[in-house]
Amino acid sequence: MPAFPFLDELDGQLQWQRQLYQDLHRHPELSLQEHRTAERIEAELAGLGVAAQRIGGTGVVGVLENGAGPTVLSRADIDALPVTEDTGLEYSSTVDGVMHACGHDMHIVALLGALRLLGENREAWSGTYIALFQPAEENAAGAQAMLDDGLVDKLPRPDVALSQHVMPFAAGTIGTAQGPVLSAGDSLRITVFGRGAHGSMPHNAVDPVVLCASIVLRLQTIVSRETQPGQFAVVTVGASNAGSKSNIIPDRGELLLNLRTYDTALRERIMAAIERIVRGECAAAGSPREPEFEYYDQFPLTSNDAGTHATVTAALTEHFGAEAVFDTKPYTASEDFSRIPDAFGVPYAYWFVGSVPPEKYRAAVEAGTVSSDIPANHSPFFAPAIDPTLAIGTRAQAVAALAYLAPRDLSA
Ligand code: ZN
Ligand code: ZN
Repeated sequence: MPAFPFLDELDGQLQWQRQLYQDLHRHPELSLQEHRTAERIEAELAGLGVAAQRIGGTGVVGVLENGAGPTVLSRADIDALPVTEDTGLEYSSTVDGVMHACGHDMHIVALLGALRLLGENREAWSGTYIALFQPAEENAAGAQAMLDDGLVDKLPRPDVALSQHVMPFAAGTIGTAQGPVLSAGDSLRITVFGRGAHGSMPHNAVDPVVLCASIVLRLQTIVSRETQPGQFAVVTVGASNAGSKSNIIPDRGELLLNLRTYDTALRERIMAAIERIVRGECAAAGSPREPEFEYYDQFPLTSNDAGTHATVTAALTEHFGAEAVFDTKPYTASEDFSRIPDAFGVPYAYWFVGSVPPEKYRAAVEAGTVSSDIPANHSPFFAPAIDPTLAIGTRAQAVAALAYLAPRDLSA
């Protein structure tokens, strides 16, 4: 027995959603350049009779007011990636070197679809529904751009925020978890200083090449020796650059690091350990200048609190059935969504929507070939199955919002 019979009206609007999805997929735009995409979203909002606000450049927000009650904010990211599409799909990208390779086009259309369902069935709920279309998730700049443009003052304060992501597991199923679902991600540029000299006169130098080498080795002990076994942490040195020629000792070196964690306190400890080790190695080398640390491309932790997770998961399970909703392990990827609920000081729920034809996924699981046969997000072959992914994503957004906007006793 469906909890909200009007959700079956989705069948009548799916053709509109499929066409919109294919149009967006053909016209992907990179982070902070989503001009056509934003205009298209504005036009669709106008068609639904919902006023659109531009916030943070290419961010778009539509607010559907429907009497007294809670306020729910649902968010979709809208940017594409610098990837050359190789799916062979009839509706492949028409833009050279740019592709919706992370499925954000699916997120846009699912959210517009949920907004339309709620807008056409106002008698079924009351409160305020905010549909927020966020630019530039891929470079962690978009949520911050909307906040810097006064998002918190421009919108009604939500009671809860919701977001979802398509992932390469069976379409028709939804994965979520209490606690961390995506890691915090941080990039860090470290500059260390030596004293340059002729390569034949090392006694006149403080050699930053040797200094960088010992820093890289010592950094390995942060995870292996300072982090409790079983706690998740990644410290990757992605680049170590110093020098240009065999017979010149350079005067500085640069290291680029990437960090991933599921725990905010551990993240702080790792950052402190990195700085301690770098300063210590610089002192040991006799470095003439303090090292410099520059953090960039920083993604916050995405972690579902217990209460919001329970409410949303109960609603999703009631609607889709227990066999369709599963408890997922956290992904090591990262997201900037949580900046928005964190800025309002409100809880949030984040879940994953499967996008691979179920038979294809099952066959790959049985053959043990998921990692080689199922293209993941950011791959030039990433091709979510429109059906049923689009319908599931649309219903999931609507059902999760209705858990607050039309609350029911799910324990009965
Ligand atoms: Zn992505
Ligand atoms: Zn993504």
